[in-house]
Amino acid sequence: MSHETFDDQVAAYALDALDAGERAAFEAHLAGCTRCESTLRESREALAAVVLEGPAAVPPPDVKAALMRRVAGDATPVHRRTDTRRLWLRGVLVAAAAMVVGGFLTGMFVAARYEAELGRVARETSRLREDLARQEAALQTRVAAYQAIVDLLRDPATRVIAMRGAGPSPTAEGRVVWHETAGGQVLVAKLPPAPAGKAYEMWTIAGGKPTAAGVFQVDESGQAIHRVPPGRGPVDVFAITLEPAPGVPAPTGPIVLASTK
Ligand SMILES: [Zn+2]
Repeated sequence: MSHETFDDQVAAYALDALDAGERAAFEAHLAGCTRCESTLRESREALAAVVLEGPAAVPPPDVKAALMRRVAGDATPVHRRTDTRRLWLRGVLVAAAAMVVGGFLTGMFVAARYEAELGRVARETSRLREDLARQEAALQTRVAAYQAIVDLLRDPATRVIAMRGAGPSPTAEGRVVWHETAGGQVLVAKLPPAPAGKAYEMWTIAGGKPTAAGVFQVDESGQAIHRVPPGRGPVDVFAITLEPAPGVPAPTGPIVLASTK
């Protein structure tokens, strides 16, 4: 790396505009280089002046001339180089400060520095949005069930039948809001979540014959609301058993809830 690279980096370093790798390399070099040390001091003074005066819209003519000479590769005598370099440096700083004011550099720095953070926030937002959509769907299902219960209860023929916990879940509770021709809704509470591969199955029992009335799962709090289709004839008993998840045509598992006759 020729020293010219460091000359070019001084202004950027003074503006804290080097990337992490460049900054580390420049600082390692700066520790042993009096030339860069003095240029850095000059550039900080020039930067302070720029900040105090505000960025010039156009670099002063002598700065522009120095810059053009430099671009043209003009070999300036060594004793004049310091002045030229200082003018050039000031021109660079004016331009850089104007860019900072214009928001260009700021935008790039913000993007680079916060890209990872923005990515994390975006992922988190999308996860929350999915959670919210799931919760909203569950809530809508529940509202629809409550609406169905309210509609049922408007009919004087609707009965509310209590169910008691049995077998493996003696503390479980249940209610069936029931209309013989319309069917109804069963509400359960305090049922443990069914083991993997299992589900709760509802039965309407008429004349001693059980009819399958659908499978359901409970939520984390042990609650569920399940739609029960009308039975084949007047229902004498409601029961819930633990069965293989797809459901079975006739009960095989233990009764977890049953209505009191
Ligand atoms: Zn140096």
